[in-house]
Order: sequence, then C-alpha cells, then structure tokens
Amino acid sequence: MVDFSKVEAIDFHTHAEEPCDSCRDDGYNEFQTGMAAYFRNPAGAEGMLPTVQDTAAYYRARNIAAVIFPVDAERETGFRRYSNEEVASLCAENDDILIPFASVDPHKGRAGAREVRRLVREFGVRGFKFHPTMQGFFPNDRAACYTVLEACAEEGVITLFHTGQTGVGSGMRGGMGMRLKYSNPMHIDDVAVDFPDMKIVLAHPSFPWTEEGLAVAQHKPNVYIDMSGWSPRYFPEIFTRYANSILKRKMLFGSDWPAITPDRWLKDFAEAPFKDEVRPLILKQNALRLLGEVE
Ligand SMILES: [Zn+2]
Repeated sequence: MVDFSKVEAIDFHTHAEEPCDSCRDDGYNEFQTGMAAYFRNPAGAEGMLPTVQDTAAYYRARNIAAVIFPVDAERETGFRRYSNEEVASLCAENDDILIPFASVDPHKGRAGAREVRRLVREFGVRGFKFHPTMQGFFPNDRAACYTVLEACAEEGVITLFHTGQTGVGSGMRGGMGMRLKYSNPMHIDDVAVDFPDMKIVLAHPSFPWTEEGLAVAQHKPNVYIDMSGWSPRYFPEIFTRYANSILKRKMLFGSDWPAITPDRWLKDFAEAPFKDEVRPLILKQNALRLLGEVE
C-alpha cells in the first residue's frame, strides 16, 4: 500500500502503455504518432512510451503516487487492449507508488460488470477509467453503459471519465472515427444523479465545455475534476478561478503521463496564479479524501 503520509503529491491521471507497442503493425503506431503531435511529446512518436515499470520508477524517484490505468477501446478503435489483470499485477509489484485503476468498455454489459467485480475483489482495483469518445458512448445512455456503471457503484469504486477534446484521432482522417460529442461533461450530470454515492472524476478542463464541467462539479457533491492533459499555463481563466475558490476541494493534480510529464505540469503549476492555501489541496489533500484515506 502507498504510505500516503510520505508521498509529496498524488497524480490522479496516468496511462499504462503496453511494452510491445513499438512493434505493432495494426495502425496503432500511426495513432500514437498523432497523439504525440497533439501533445508535442517526442517519446510517443518514437515508440518510446514508458512501461508500467518505467512509470513506477519515475514516480518513485519523485515521491509522487500515481493513479494508473489502461484504456479498453478495442470495440471502437480496433486496437487490442492492454489487459487489466496485467496492469493490476504490475501495480501490485509497485504498490508503494502506483494506485491501480482499470478500464472496461461499458458496452461489454454483463460481461463487463463481471470483470469490474473481479478486478475490484481479486486485484484491488480502486477505480475505472471511461473514455466516452474512444469507447463511443454517451455516459447517460442507460442501455449502453449502466450495467457496468452499476457494478462500479455497487463495488464502491471511483469512476473517471475523459471529458472535452482529445488527442485521440486528432488530425487524422475523419478523426479516426472518434466523435467529440460524447465527451461533453454535462452528460455526466445525469450519471451523478443516478449514482449519487458513486465518486466521479471529470478528467481534464473539459474544453470546449469547461464551464459545463465546472457547473457539474459545483452542483454534485460526488463529482471531482482532474486537471490533467493541459499545462496549467494554458488553463482557461475561469477554470483557475473556480479551482482557487468554490471548487478548491474538488480539484485534483493530474498530468496525463506520458503525454504530459508531472515535471512539466508541476513547474507550470508553480508559476500559475494559484493561491498558496489551495496548492496542497490540489496536489494531495483532495485526492486523499476522494480515495477515502481521510475524512
Ligand atoms: Zn488521459
């Protein structure tokens, strides 16, 4: 278990990348090159994405705990997924620093719900990442996704939803079939109503629906926001203003590793106009409360 009294911060949004990505010929590399261009991250373009072990070593060296997950989008993208069990096992080997989340395409319905329960009970998974654009669903579409969300709620785990624009498919023909509309955070307002006791994280500043995301997090006690995927230097002004005031107990440090490194994020955060009393809340305290580690 992570000794939360010892870590400096908690990064609530990091990605688990398969070690063999660079040798794949199913179009996945082209897709990663598009992602790398969007984030201006040379590692992705060169097929040099860090493994889970690399990630653990990187975060351990910085004394930062990290929530880590793969993304199951094989149905919508055609790319095979990185097995949740494998990622969770690697997390268990590095449980001083990694906090295991998993990902199940909600279209998997009952099979998906069974997978959720098994991952929580047998692998200690603490939450699930959903990507409405990569998985092709509206989060409030009961037929498409509530069987899996119900399992998450019943198991008492956190759900984390990608919101806003995405690097996935960016600049590619037809956006590689990816549709941005699914990632409007307002759809998650319905989820927060239907699962009032389930902890929900809206990932990223939700651009171009930043204000919608802020409104949902302000209105629903169970909704948080992770500040990943953007350098704090470029946060919309209203996003920083809410983080400094009415949402100061709802905002979470997140990088989106490896697209954005925590080194870059934290440097830009230090230079951004956040209040001194709010910084420790964002970097660690809010995540502790969300994880149930403190009241
Ligand atoms: Zn991400």
